[in-house]
Amino acid sequence: MAQLIDGKAVAARVRAEVKAEVEQLKASRGLVPGLTVVRVGEDPASKIYVTGKKKAAEEVGFNSWEEHPDESITEDALLAIIDRLNKDPAVHGILVQLPLPKHIDSERIISAVRPEKDADGFHPMNAGKLSLGKPALRPCTPFGVMRLLQEVGCNPAGKRAVVVGRSNIVGKPMALMLLQADATVTVCHRKSDLKFEVGMADIVVAAVGVPELIKGEWIKPGAVVIDVGMNRMPDGKLKGDVEFEKAKERASFITPVPGGVGPMTIAMLMRNTLDAAKAT
Ligand code: NAD
Repeated sequence: MAQLIDGKAVAARVRAEVKAEVEQLKASRGLVPGLTVVRVGEDPASKIYVTGKKKAAEEVGFNSWEEHPDESITEDALLAIIDRLNKDPAVHGILVQLPLPKHIDSERIISAVRPEKDADGFHPMNAGKLSLGKPALRPCTPFGVMRLLQEVGCNPAGKRAVVVGRSNIVGKPMALMLLQADATVTVCHRKSDLKFEVGMADIVVAAVGVPELIKGEWIKPGAVVIDVGMNRMPDGKLKGDVEFEKAKERASFITPVPGGVGPMTIAMLMRNTLDAAKAT
């Protein structure tokens, strides 16, 4: 029977570490990290995420602001907001909450954020640095997964890691971080033989967005299973991408959904913003 990986507790620890470093930074340099979240329009899920991010920023002692333009804002007007934030010395981290309205090119907006202030780690410059193995701001969700692995004493070096999903925000950066940690990494997608690949893995990271796609019986006994999936079911509950009840019979460690990876994403956003401030 697997031990549960308590993402809430680890995230609280990360926030406490950030808070302690913020206090030191205030004392030594008189510097208060600042995070601005840009939320366009009234997407209800975005509102919930942004509220969580602002609350965490306040808790760790950051200055935090929200830019909340109307849904009808033009791309140029949004670029002007980003330009202003790029130039504002009090703002160390800028986060553009996705999705943006359809008439706005998200890639263009993300690329306009100064890479040094790219708290989400999505800028092409930071993605490139990650693939080159150079220090940079890291995408928060996979960065959080690496911390969870560390917390349970799972060193990826020499292990077979399978990442299911190849999105730019989770799957791909996850694979690169595991590779950098010396795992032997396989990235799976719709054309992969999931049962075979997952069955070989010492570490499974599922980031697909299909409830219970990864069957418990596929899991290699003793594997560490990290479930990034957050699928809202018709009854309102959240379900992961892994068949949790059966997988936990075989895994050594497993993340629950909710309460696993989810809380880590916001905690690592705080870490990134602090690092961005320290680098100024
Ligand atoms: P995405 O839709 O951008 O990417 C999904 C990936 O899964 C794609 O690369 C696709 O090739 C692959 N895929 C889809 N169906 C597949 C199948 N049947 N077999 C194999 N591969 C398949 O999604 P994303 O943004 O990477 O998010 C993935 C999941 O993680 C979602 O449930 C999302 O809600 C969740 N998520 C959670 C957090 C968090 O903080 N916990 C953060 C980001 C995303």
